[in-house]
Amino acid sequence: MHELGIAESALEMALTQATAAKATRVLSLVIRVGALSGVDPEALRFAFTAILPGTPAEGAAVQIDSVAALAYCPTCQRDFVPDTDHFFECPTCGQLCSTLKQGRELDLIRLEMT
Ligand SMILES: [Zn+2]
Repeated sequence: MHELGIAESALEMALTQATAAKATRVLSLVIRVGALSGVDPEALRFAFTAILPGTPAEGAAVQIDSVAALAYCPTCQRDFVPDTDHFFECPTCGQLCSTLKQGRELDLIRLEMT
């Protein structure tokens, strides 16, 4: 389960920012997770509950923001939701598209500290 490693690096990032801001406590974290990032949001949430105790982020609220996958078809000039993880086939013209507009995000997008 690589979610543990992801949670650890997100926590490290949060604590680095907190230190830089001279904050002593991290109150909440918001992580954006794309549908195609390969990360299971529930497993990630669970990983955070396992690693936060004993750190300045103990008790912090962890919010996982899921981002749906969205691909773009240049022929139809429209976005569509791909139904597989690997090939993005346009539902209108059937063309395989390689442009993914969103869905692979894995970012710490917001941090609240005091
Ligand atoms: Zn198309």
